[in-house]
Amino acid sequence: MSSTLYRNGVIHSPADPFAQALLVDDGVVAWLGDDDTADGLAARADEVVDLDGALVAPGFVDAHVHVLETGLALESVPLSADAGVRSLGDALDAVARAARERSATDADVPLLGFGWDETEWPEGRPPTRAELDAAAGGAPVYLARVDVHSAVVSTALAQAEGLDRLPGWSDDGRVEREAHHAAREAARRLTPERRTAVYGRALAHAASQGVVSVHELSAPFIDTREGLVELLTSTADAASALPLVVGYRGELCVTVDDAREILAAIPGLTGIGGDLNVDGSLGSHTAALRAPYADADGSGALYLSAEQIANHVTAVTRAGVQGGFHVIGDRAMDEVALGLRAAADVEGVEAIGRAGHRLEHAEMVDAPTLASLILLGVRLSVQPAFDAAWGGEKGMYATRLGAGRAAALNPLADLAGAGIPLAFGSDAPVTPVDPWAGVRAAVLHTAPEQRISARAAFRASTRGGWRLAGLDHTGAGELRVGAPAHLAVWRAEHLVVQAPDGRLASWSTDARSGTPLLPFLGPDEESPRCLRTVRDGVVLYDALG
Ligand SMILES: [Zn+2]
Repeated sequence: MSSTLYRNGVIHSPADPFAQALLVDDGVVAWLGDDDTADGLAARADEVVDLDGALVAPGFVDAHVHVLETGLALESVPLSADAGVRSLGDALDAVARAARERSATDADVPLLGFGWDETEWPEGRPPTRAELDAAAGGAPVYLARVDVHSAVVSTALAQAEGLDRLPGWSDDGRVEREAHHAAREAARRLTPERRTAVYGRALAHAASQGVVSVHELSAPFIDTREGLVELLTSTADAASALPLVVGYRGELCVTVDDAREILAAIPGLTGIGGDLNVDGSLGSHTAALRAPYADADGSGALYLSAEQIANHVTAVTRAGVQGGFHVIGDRAMDEVALGLRAAADVEGVEAIGRAGHRLEHAEMVDAPTLASLILLGVRLSVQPAFDAAWGGEKGMYATRLGAGRAAALNPLADLAGAGIPLAFGSDAPVTPVDPWAGVRAAVLHTAPEQRISARAAFRASTRGGWRLAGLDHTGAGELRVGAPAHLAVWRAEHLVVQAPDGRLASWSTDARSGTPLLPFLGPDEESPRCLRTVRDGVVLYDALG
């Protein structure tokens, strides 16, 4: 394997905060230090990169991704405000344009759209089936809502799949629950070749964002077991030139034999759980709450009981792997805590703690619950970009819960301060694979008391991901001698030490402060631009030119 010397830049390393140069040899960080000292190494390196002041930092880990849906979203008609769709009318125009531009051979393939959020549109409602039929000229159409828990479909798709006979069907084309699952199934019925291409598109996109590894949160309603096996085997080796996929499968186990069967079927699996849903989402009013929604009847839906949770945790602990759940509402979190404690009563607190089970989202965690999670060795996979998307006084969370309860959501400073192991993710395609956006959202949390430092947020987006999956023993996620060369090179305007309270005067531009520098992430600051992404010394993405 070849060696590369990066010099004349800023190396983000707690081991040497003043390093300007770094040598990658045989896939590992072989040396880092002063530029002056790099001269001798330049002669024997196969490649010498003049960074011209660019930042070399540990590569990102996105700890919650749905690769297939992310790839499909990249191929879909974008319907979010970010994509310029600001009304129902815009959305129908975009669908009509895409339908016109499709080749005739695709006529029977569902036209996919993604990312609509009716709460942000002046019309306050999604398209109807009749409107979709008109816009797409009668083609099968599937438009997923931004939270991917519901969709709207055209008549052609509804008839082909018999959606009107399933629970969750509305005559205006809105599909939820079973009807939504069937519609989504139809939307992602792919030939093997196309499936592989969609995976590749999503992973290449992640690499272009400085991501060296993604955690795939697979589940029966999201992708097949075979799909997960393909993702794991095709990315296991860095020679694939793709980010490493760390696999989780959300299938409920009752006994240890259930767990062993899944492990045998999916070689290389890291955990059984992930998007094993204890409840739904706030956007769809299905997150399970202690007190009712502010803008709808009811308190959401609980999909798993404490007993089921306890059995699952016991089974996977005995099988020797991580387990975990998708949990959003405080009522769902209570059920999880009950289930975990019941499992600990059987297996012992130590055994449960050693397994390091993980929870996805954990958006509503109060202090007593947090204390019990820490006691049980639980790790959290959270999505700061959710706060940027839906937090704040006028956001969706405030609409659903009222401002008081909403302000307590995604309590990043509480979680970080309590020392619970934390990893950041995007839940792509719910929010884009854009780790700097996650770091920025954590630094600029809509609740000022829940902001954390850029450094803590960056760590949760890098080393945190390796640690959450129990893969940090190699030193992955930090640039130090002997650690695997998982890194990204960034062009950024200002490199600073950024404090959590949002006061711009509080950051120091003095590189001699001894804290490794990071790009300044103001609300209107452009995100750093990725110049190169490297996994185990292998270049995954290159724009160095
Ligand atoms: Zn998910």
